Order: sequence, then C-alpha cells, then structure tokens
Amino acid sequence: MIIGHLPAGYLLASALDRSFFRDPVMFWAIMAGAVVPDLDMLWFHVVDGGAVHHHTYLTHDPTLWAAILFFGLVLTSRLLIGVALGALLHMVLDTIAGPVSWGWGDFSFSGPLVIVPPTQDHWVMSFVLHWIMLIELALWGIAGVVFVMRRKLEPME
Ligand SMILES: [Zn+2]
Repeated sequence: MIIGHLPAGYLLASALDRSFFRDPVMFWAIMAGAVVPDLDMLWFHVVDGGAVHHHTYLTHDPTLWAAILFFGLVLTSRLLIGVALGALLHMVLDTIAGPVSWGWGDFSFSGPLVIVPPTQDHWVMSFVLHWIMLIELALWGIAGVVFVMRRKLEPME
C-alpha cells in the first residue's frame, strides 16, 4: 500500500473513538502508528540503497507491533496501544500487495495476497495503474466522508 495508510488509520481511530479508546492521545497514536512503519524508507534509500526490501526490516514485523500492543495493554498505555493498533493495521494493508511475514516456522505466511506485475518501468507506476490502487483511493474517499460527518456531529471549537 502506498497512499492508503493514513486514511485507514483515520478510519480505525474514528471507529475506536469511544469508551476506553476515546482519548486524543489514542486517536493520534493510531494515526501515527498507521504510517510510522514506513519511516524505514529513509533507511531503505539512504543506508541500504534499495538493496533489501523494506518489508524485511523489523519495522514491518507484525511480531514487534504485537509485542508493543501486549506491553501497552499490560501498562494500560493508550499511546502504546494506539501506535501498535495503527501499525498492525499497516501490516495488514501491506500484506495485500507486499511480503509481510506473519507467524513463525510452519505457521507462517508471508503474502502478498495480490501480485502486482511489473508492467511499467518504475514499480510505483505499476501499482498506480493496477486495480489495487482503487482500494487506496476508496480509503481516501471513505475517510473523507467520515471526516465530514464527524465534523457535522462534533463541530470543532
Ligand atoms: Zn509499509
């Protein structure tokens, strides 16, 4: 997923914006967690020079985020819980068209669920022109509708 992580994080944060989860820290932590795993792109480009797929980095290991979620629950830290939930959502979305390793040994799955063939010179253009981009655009559209509806229900001060 290229552009869909932020609106997906917004949708998750909005859906959980009630009861225990209703907290600005939780809301923004989910939003941050939804995009923070891709900060490894800096390492990917600057240090590794694109030699290793960034999905193989620790930042794209669901186990890391599950462990952070566990510690967040133990410590009742809304910040940790939110970041972990957002990042786990990121892992799920990245699994659609990219390799993300879930589980261990015989009980592992590395995806992707959909293979985007290299139809263009640059991989980004192959993704942009693949039907999978419609999912990302739909996330933006739905998030936009939810954003407007939330503003109507809870006007900003
Ligand atoms: Zn990612």
